Amino acid sequence: MDLKDKVAVITGAGKGIGRAIAEALAAQGVHLGLISRTGSDLSAAAERLKKGHNVRVQFGAADVSRRTEVETVIGQLRSELGPADILINNAGVAKFGTVADMPPEDWERIVQVNLMGTYYVTRAVLPDMIQRNSGNIVNISSTAGERGSATTSAYSASKFGVMGLTESLMQEVRKNNIRVTALTPSTVNTELAAKAGLKIGDEEHMMQPEDVAQLLIAMLKLPQRVFVKQAGLWMTNPQ
Ligand code: NAP
Repeated sequence: MDLKDKVAVITGAGKGIGRAIAEALAAQGVHLGLISRTGSDLSAAAERLKKGHNVRVQFGAADVSRRTEVETVIGQLRSELGPADILINNAGVAKFGTVADMPPEDWERIVQVNLMGTYYVTRAVLPDMIQRNSGNIVNISSTAGERGSATTSAYSASKFGVMGLTESLMQEVRKNNIRVTALTPSTVNTELAAKAGLKIGDEEHMMQPEDVAQLLIAMLKLPQRVFVKQAGLWMTNPQ
């Protein structure tokens, strides 16, 4: 499938995996709507993308865990770029701690951003896709959405939730020609991983955000009649 002149909305596009996905989509000629909370990250990303590629780039600062903010920013991007052909639900936060020790506010926040944020953004974008009888939604989950570990209860609960949401949505809208995919990368070399103490060994062997973006482009380019339901990406040789 040719991606040129499609419109993509990417959450968490200010850094890490979202920023790399924005760059990879722009290189395919995709027009972009970027969302995260930090406007300065988004304006810097937009400048760079517009300089490097012949695509339109718009952005809006919003917290995906707040439904009204989400509805406003999606409405704004829609009026600037037209309806989205591709939605990448990537915005996420991570923090680890035991069930006994983690403050309930932190536990709630992780679920609110990672799971409820994915739901709010999807709900805001979906009517256009159903109406146009086409679309692509990629939800960035995690290996923590496939198995739980000690201290990852909040993050795993949020990402298992994303897996359930993704599979149910996929069953709901495949008849509308909408392709819904869950990506489950293991540790990726980003700020999130560094802050969560996940950077293990030397960076050269770590998965890079660009690797995730490359997989995403390959998936989106598959013929419209097929889609990847779920894909894991692991580093080959962790040190
Ligand atoms: P990152 O480098 O910390 O970037 C996260 C992005 O999400 C930033 O642009 C951040 O911007 C945005 N964001 C965070 N909270 C938000 C909110 N409430 N509303 C809107 N935007 C928000 O993280 P990353 O490693 O690229 O992670 C991206 C996704 O991949 C996450 O869903 C994460 O769970 C998943 N993942 C990461 C790894 C890994 O090892 N890095 C592995 C598997 C899956 P602001 O802070 O400015 O809002």
